[in-house]
Amino acid sequence: MSNLNQIINRLVIICGPSGSGKTTIVQHLLSNNPKLKFSISATTRIKRENEQDGDDYYFLSTDEFKKKIEADEFLEWEQVYTDLYYGTLKSEVERISKEGNMVIFDIDVQGGLNLQKQFKEKSLAIFVMPPSVEDLKKRLQRRKTESAESLLTRISKAEQEIEHAFHFDHVLVNKDLDKSFATAQELLDEYIKEDVNDNPSD
Ligand code: 5GP
Repeated sequence: MSNLNQIINRLVIICGPSGSGKTTIVQHLLSNNPKLKFSISATTRIKRENEQDGDDYYFLSTDEFKKKIEADEFLEWEQVYTDLYYGTLKSEVERISKEGNMVIFDIDVQGGLNLQKQFKEKSLAIFVMPPSVEDLKKRLQRRKTESAESLLTRISKAEQEIEHAFHFDHVLVNKDLDKSFATAQELLDEYIKEDVNDNPSD
């Protein structure tokens, strides 16, 4: 890992419950900051209609995922929901960093805290907080991507995740998307100004 630590420039970790709006914020930052590149995670969940393999996620079978765990190919991985694995591939972070870019992650809270622990001095960790759990439920229902069962699982996980928000560098309450975009950009600009002992390629 020490090798990867030397290669990495900066890591922007965006976490928050499913339905908090974190993915929208990540997409906004990506389209406004060309030096920021998305870490495409691996997952065993089924691809949604609007998703592309190798673009949104690398969709793997459970068997393929487990082989990668054994081969130590992940920087972090979690069984985010029962029987559903998600993980950050070392190869993604290495590729983006070697191109001289900053990596942005859209991952669950445990995964985010794990990365923050490994790369504390190089990372910016933001927790995207929904205004309330009720609001989160409405957003997930509007999204129409979840079954009734999956909706309940996601709400219950959200309640647990919110308890860990204080571990993050910043908590961004996502009440108004435009304001959240502006705040996220300000946090990123501040972080870019910080000295994180970058290597010369930054
Ligand atoms: P979804 O199924 O809605 O795409 O994602 C479910 C949850 O898994 C979200 O909170 C998402 O951020 C998280 N997730 C996505 N990729 C990763 C990853 O590589 N590692 C971890 N720990 N969580 C991830």
